[in-house]
Amino acid sequence: MRAATSTRPADAAVGAVDTHCPYCALQCGMTLSPAGRASVRVRPRDPSEGGLCQKGWTAAALLGSPARLTTPLVRDGGTLRPASWDEALGLVARRIKEIVAARGPDAVAVFGGGGLTNEKAYLLGKFARVALGTSQVDYNGRFCMSSAAAAAHRAFGLDRGLPFPLADLDGADAVLLAGANPAETMPPFMSHLRRAVDAGGLIVVDPRRTPTAERAALHLAPAPGTDLALALGILHAAVADGHLDHAYVAGRTTGFEEAWRVAAGWWPERVERVTGVAAADQRRAAAILAGAASAYVLTARGAEQHATGVDTVGAWINLALALGLPGRRGSGWGCLTGQGNGQGGREQGQKADQLPGYRRIDDPAARAHVARVWGVEPSALPGPGRSAFELLDALGTPDGPSALLVFGSNPVVSAPHAGRVADRLAALDLLVVADLVLSETARAADVVLPITQWAEEDGTMTNIEGRVLLRRRALAPPPGVRTDLEVLHDLAVRLGQPPERFPADPETVFTELRAASEDGPADYSGVTWDRLRAGERLQWPIPRRPGHRGTPRLFLDRFAHPDGRARFVPVDHRGPAEPPDEEFPLYAITGRVLQHYQSGAQTRRVEELRAAVPEAYVEVHPDTARRAGLRDGAAAAVVGRRGRTLATVRCVPSMRPDVIFLPFHFPGAQRANLVTNPALDPVSRMPEFKVCAVRLSPAAEREAAR
Ligand code: SF4
Repeated sequence: MRAATSTRPADAAVGAVDTHCPYCALQCGMTLSPAGRASVRVRPRDPSEGGLCQKGWTAAALLGSPARLTTPLVRDGGTLRPASWDEALGLVARRIKEIVAARGPDAVAVFGGGGLTNEKAYLLGKFARVALGTSQVDYNGRFCMSSAAAAAHRAFGLDRGLPFPLADLDGADAVLLAGANPAETMPPFMSHLRRAVDAGGLIVVDPRRTPTAERAALHLAPAPGTDLALALGILHAAVADGHLDHAYVAGRTTGFEEAWRVAAGWWPERVERVTGVAAADQRRAAAILAGAASAYVLTARGAEQHATGVDTVGAWINLALALGLPGRRGSGWGCLTGQGNGQGGREQGQKADQLPGYRRIDDPAARAHVARVWGVEPSALPGPGRSAFELLDALGTPDGPSALLVFGSNPVVSAPHAGRVADRLAALDLLVVADLVLSETARAADVVLPITQWAEEDGTMTNIEGRVLLRRRALAPPPGVRTDLEVLHDLAVRLGQPPERFPADPETVFTELRAASEDGPADYSGVTWDRLRAGERLQWPIPRRPGHRGTPRLFLDRFAHPDGRARFVPVDHRGPAEPPDEEFPLYAITGRVLQHYQSGAQTRRVEELRAAVPEAYVEVHPDTARRAGLRDGAAAAVVGRRGRTLATVRCVPSMRPDVIFLPFHFPGAQRANLVTNPALDPVSRMPEFKVCAVRLSPAAEREAAR
């Protein structure tokens, strides 16, 4: 594969820079080297860790892209025109002051992203609570990993995606992946599963036969929305077939009896009728996990993005606990985080119910600690706000915010019920978007602020295993572009804050973040950038104690609940919020493809990636396509209760005849999220992206070309 190069000079005298990929939570190490006088070249830093995927190899292409924004834009007479920074930020500050004066601080909302660095996520949450005084702040990680986070808190008292080093998976004889497709979404991860694959121990739970499922010894393909029932069936089989780890359950857990009372009613034959997964395969899955010397259960978005996501992940955790896996070296349960800073992004305080250090905003002690660091009274901090979809859904309504500031997100494409979200954005008095390209959300903005990207700035990320990583600046940003931190600093000062309260230097922000996180669940107080520069591998919690080297493995001695025990939680199958019916007879499921990342705002602008997958497609069984009057390559409309989306038909014989698959990276009329269901999990407030009811019909070619 050819590495992409940027077209601007690398920082003088910097030479090769070790950094990390701008995309997913694996945060693969890469080195950026000056290539000639006018570019940087990407190469993997540690090929033994699996190298880079196509997105990583081509990441530098966006640095020099003509699509980059290099000047602020202001809406004027219906169109966006170039403006100076002073005009753009002055306009934003003036409008915010007017709106707050008229309707109060909660009339201004902030929407962040799971790709923002720790420093940006931290300063954004502080900006919302202190400079704006609003409770209305949340982020797109609510759409990605909030169900696993809530389930982990409930079971273990603490949430860290992988509570063990990624490299521990290298020794696994058996791995059950529930709703994960890393062979496409993070290919280098697959190198950690080699032993499990070779040992015949890889079990994949996914309604589609994905490239990951192709590698599995056992592929379980439940009907969409029935994963929870499947987990109950495998738990039932494990107990009934004598695989329960009695000593572990008695010594390290509570609540088994209550959980078993539910699972006892889900014997494998009953589960087969609900899920379509053969009872014998459920028993085989239990036996493979129980028979392995080293076994892991890993969940991802396929388990989480349901209106029952917390309980679904909880059901897989119950299975892992019954087999005695969590909190033991060489086995465990973990969640594969998705976005680049999916872990750190949920710890630093940009979430509606949290303060930095993974503290709860409704905890008086947490409020007092963070208020002290911020130099304000605890009573000045607002309480919890609306969750991400509820926030977007309330925009422009009489009780909702009338201004929104968006950093690091593109909800016009990535939010569920995207047509509704676009309408709500259009109803705002003020929409401000900070982005590096003119994303679909930026196109709808009143003010667009051009910001730096990845290799043009320093900052830290927290990867899939809770390790804090330093991303290094390798080249100067284009003239006219500022960092998010500089934008927040300038806006805060214009809103009347003392300049020193909102530093724009990332290392200074990190030093403050350390203090704000100290003694919290996600304690970064012992991390310094110097330790990271020296190459230390530090996984949180990392308290400020001499010689503390971080915590690679959580829960080895005790879980984080006060009694030190993990909790079984009784969970029951409820099924999807919107099951198929006569009018909409098919399940639609959504997901990612190898070449694109999230809303595609970045990867659709990298020519090699765009050429590989230029437009939306719908995977469908050939018989299902034929019944809808469609053939391979035809233009199709996927129609649901909330809207319709357009895609080109790909006939895939391995698809279940009752299921279609839509990738969600595409804009306009090809947005998969025009049909997805915003039904929310009652605990995590995660929308049900993974299943809704649709029908398939031919689309006019002219319509499809739009
Ligand atoms: S797997 Fe993720 S972090 Fe690694 S190169 Fe690909 S997109 Fe980047």
